[in-house]
Amino acid sequence: MMRKPLIAGNWKLNKTINESQQLSRQLLESLGTVSNREIVIAPVFTALNAVSEIIKSSSILLAAQNCYPATTGAFTGELSPLFLQDAGCQYVIIGHSERRQLLHETNAFINQKLIGVIQAGLKPILCIGETLQQREDGQMLEILGQQIKEGLVDLTTDQMATVVIAYEPIWAIGTGKTASSEQAQEAHAYIRSLLQEIFNSSVAEQTRILYGGSVKPDNIDTLMAQTDIDGALVGGASLKAEDFVRIVRFL
Ligand code: PGA
Repeated sequence: MMRKPLIAGNWKLNKTINESQQLSRQLLESLGTVSNREIVIAPVFTALNAVSEIIKSSSILLAAQNCYPATTGAFTGELSPLFLQDAGCQYVIIGHSERRQLLHETNAFINQKLIGVIQAGLKPILCIGETLQQREDGQMLEILGQQIKEGLVDLTTDQMATVVIAYEPIWAIGTGKTASSEQAQEAHAYIRSLLQEIFNSSVAEQTRILYGGSVKPDNIDTLMAQTDIDGALVGGASLKAEDFVRIVRFL
């Protein structure tokens, strides 16, 4: 079973509405129609709808960077998958390490969001990854195992068909230090073996596992050459059309 590669741009807290529209237009112009890979961009909440209007009849899909696990109600300041769908999203990034660290998001809370996203008919991109300290202390596999098991608890195999996982070692995010392709492959293979253990071999075979952490035009090709790397979650390099387009066009 072939897994369609997915390249997602996480714009984080960057780009005003105007700037987001401009970048989306540049991407549309330089990408043209791309059929053999999936392309996703995740602007800030306030720009989602404006970007959606620009990309809606193209092959670029829209993601939100976070959500709250409710539908509607008394949740001041929050946005639920229902509203993200209303704004034009197909994907939601869940459990990014910046949120885990800065906002103390737990695996249990992330699991609730994941289920909310799937129930609303959207697709989650679940981010996991270890800190440098955890890696140096030999805890990497344990941490990844916990994030996967607790993050995916109560999911059915059917629901798993919509989930994308992003392995993002925290020490490689925004630091310019990419994991070597061997380090990334080792983590990806381990994640796939966990999916087999928790679900079954067809879930393990079909789930796309993206790599994230200082992905750039000059390292994407070697990363994508690894057996278990099915795409990338790109931060900094997704803010420049030229770099992101080169990453989408990996060899
Ligand atoms: P980076 O960010 O590419 O700037 O390292 C990746 C991410 O945080 O998703």
